[in-house]
Amino acid sequence: MRSTDSPAVGAAALWRRVHGTPRHSEAATTRLRDMRSLRIDMHVHMVGNGFAGSGGWLRLNGWHHWLARFMVRQLGFPPDVIHGDLERVYARHLLEFVRASSFDAIVLLAHERVHDPDGKPREDLGSMYVPNDVVLDLADAHPEFLAGVSIHPARADALDELDRCLDRGAVLMKCLPNCQNIDPSDRRYRRFWERMAEAGLPLLAHTGGEHTVPIVNARLADPKLLRLPLECGVTVIAAHCATKSGPLDPDYFDDWAAMLAEFPKLYGDISAMVSLNRCAHLRDCLRPEIEPRIVHGSDFPVPVLGHRMWLDGLVSWSSFRQAQRIPNPLERDWQFKKALGFSGEVRTRATGLLRLADGKRRYSEAGAAHGYVVPRLGYAEGPHIR
Ligand SMILES: [Zn+2]
Repeated sequence: MRSTDSPAVGAAALWRRVHGTPRHSEAATTRLRDMRSLRIDMHVHMVGNGFAGSGGWLRLNGWHHWLARFMVRQLGFPPDVIHGDLERVYARHLLEFVRASSFDAIVLLAHERVHDPDGKPREDLGSMYVPNDVVLDLADAHPEFLAGVSIHPARADALDELDRCLDRGAVLMKCLPNCQNIDPSDRRYRRFWERMAEAGLPLLAHTGGEHTVPIVNARLADPKLLRLPLECGVTVIAAHCATKSGPLDPDYFDDWAAMLAEFPKLYGDISAMVSLNRCAHLRDCLRPEIEPRIVHGSDFPVPVLGHRMWLDGLVSWSSFRQAQRIPNPLERDWQFKKALGFSGEVRTRATGLLRLADGKRRYSEAGAAHGYVVPRLGYAEGPHIR
């Protein structure tokens, strides 16, 4: 085990690497933006195909190929990008989206491979692999990006990889139990969860059905399987609040909501819920006993479609029209939630949960002083939609 959890690369070294000059004095950074007020989208996927040698890959068949093309068109990316340097184009567009939005930072998520429970990687399963270094490098280079790493706890090197990612400033660990074949309740993973708890690294776990990534084991969508990491002391964020994705999926929302009373470190994110399939429980997330446990995420690049929110009477026609017209998908997603009644707190709450290590924190604050973080080119608080 490491003696410290602080990143190996300090803020001053990062600053020098990026800017080529020494950083301003410590005093200059102390008057900077309070980290607790950073507006964060904590659920954004990095996507790549390994074109430039990252080791990642993308494998799209049938429905997933069609879906990927739809997303690329929606986002205004060049149509042939899926076969070109996808990582570079994607990261550049994403940075522009963040800078032109009312967000200060996003958590950019790596994507682990499928493994068997004994730790054997299954290259024949899954549609995507985004190595941790892709998001760690991007987070080093841009204060707008925070690194969400992804590690299958059955990997033989899982604890070493966890320590390596902690050293490099990971802010959370993301997994999709039903797609990556991870049973969080498997007793063999106890040490892994304990190490995450010791390091203050939260777990963002997919819960509920899924249709953008192939399912390996549907049973693992159940939030009740997250009891073990919670008992080990890990802060757990159940992605999508365990709502169902397709009409035939089981809906675990009530199970998740019941667990909130038992586990004070359990949260839920409202990512991918401005959609045709998941918006049904969005208003339930505003209930007074639930709202304090909600954090904001978009699930970018999943399309933001508020049509059913309007059809179901969750937002007015004029709010729908105004929000749906916003070209920036990160901002569009937030404006729908704001129109429904979510307060700004839902997107600053993650600052109290993420492992915003000292180095990254100071670096982000230094970035803010130089105008990298706020104010942005576009919205200050976003257009006020009601
Ligand atoms: Zn997601």
